[in-house]
Amino acid sequence: MATFQFDLLDLPPEAQALRDEVRAFLTTTVGDRAGHRRARSWGGFDREFSRKVGERGWIGMMWPKKYGGHERSALERYVVLEEMLAAGAPVSAHWVADRQSGPLLLRFGTEAQRERFLPRIARGELAFAIGMSEPDSGSDLASIRTRAEPVTGGYRVNGTKVWTSNAHISDYMIALFRTRVVPDKKHEGLSQFLVDTKTPGITIRPIIDLAGGHHFNEVVFQDAFVPEDMRVGEEGNGWKQVSTELAFERSGPERYLSSIQLVIETIREVGQEPGERAAVTVGRLVAHLATLRQMSLSVAGMLQAGQNPNLEAAVVKDVGTSFEQEIPETVHALLGVEPRLGSGSQFERTLGYLVQHAPSFSLRGGTREILRGIIARGLGLR
Ligand SMILES: Cc1cc2nc3c(=O)[nH]c(=O)nc-3n(C[C@H](O)[C@H](O)[C@H](O)COP(=O)(O)OP(=O)(O)OC[C@H]3O[C@@H](n4cnc5c(N)ncnc54)[C@H](O)[C@@H]3O)c2cc1C
Repeated sequence: MATFQFDLLDLPPEAQALRDEVRAFLTTTVGDRAGHRRARSWGGFDREFSRKVGERGWIGMMWPKKYGGHERSALERYVVLEEMLAAGAPVSAHWVADRQSGPLLLRFGTEAQRERFLPRIARGELAFAIGMSEPDSGSDLASIRTRAEPVTGGYRVNGTKVWTSNAHISDYMIALFRTRVVPDKKHEGLSQFLVDTKTPGITIRPIIDLAGGHHFNEVVFQDAFVPEDMRVGEEGNGWKQVSTELAFERSGPERYLSSIQLVIETIREVGQEPGERAAVTVGRLVAHLATLRQMSLSVAGMLQAGQNPNLEAAVVKDVGTSFEQEIPETVHALLGVEPRLGSGSQFERTLGYLVQHAPSFSLRGGTREILRGIIARGLGLR
């Protein structure tokens, strides 16, 4: 049977200096935010904050300098990401572009696309959304039906995307469309496009989430024109590309740190001298965090070494999202404090936010069952 391995690694000495810099920056920019606002984790959207992060050189950190990048290592990038998440910084306006849209353009985009988009992403000026899921195609992404028909100078697009996070406040979306129907071969004939969200023929409607918030959307295309030069990669190469994009999407520390603010509030709540039960619970949470961090860091190390850690990233996402999803229930059982919204203590409100949002942690970016299928395939079990 195939197997996988997470090699332990130590961060290089320069990482500590960078960590101190990022912490100092975060203290001045987001230091006074309340726990329940920090709990939004990578969901907080603030363009001004993203511009400041861009000015510091912390977006597109690994990209070539000629595209506005900074040619730093995956491990240095990891330090920036984990500090941002630990502080609950509002990173969402640059997160998707930095994590997956930019790297996708670097790998598959044209030179003109790289020159046009990457420097602006690295400056924190462009927000990207992900246009993959459709009303009848989530896990079975290859069954998407949104058509991009070739017309003079480009493509005419018709169809509907759903659950498109931040589409209403993003500048562009990387979308997967069907450019050709190949009977009985659903993985063929797919292509990716850079879509300007202001394109005529695109209607973006809110989908209100379980917690009453608006972050995702339904995006309807009615004869929307997308120019030829906005196609990313070869026509028909979309499935391979989207698989690469999903690997970028799944490999980061945001897949186990979504409930970190609640861990912090719990430690504050149980105080300096916790009872035995509290000490055991907090000890378990911290031990899990430390282990997941080593695994996640190991994935960053593999990326740095030019490997393709798809399997390991899927393992971290599966174990990590299960962990971050369990935290609200674990601390609720420990402290018996009820979750609250709108008013209440920092702890109650942070718990309130996370009780409502935790169910989605194992859905976004690919469900648990799908990840386990990927892991099984990677191990040669299916
Ligand atoms: C907070 C959040 C943000 C999101 N943001 C975006 C976004 O920005 N862009 C975007 O494109 N999408 C986004 N999504 C959509 C997300 O990718 C899908 O919800 C996810 O892929 C599952 O698809 P689905 O909802 O259609 O469920 P389905 O695919 O219908 O799955 C329903 C259930 O069946 C299970 N299942 C399905 N197929 C199998 C199988 N073969 N074997 C075993 N079990 C199976 C699933 O695991 C799941 O439990 C977001 C989702 C959430 C929750």
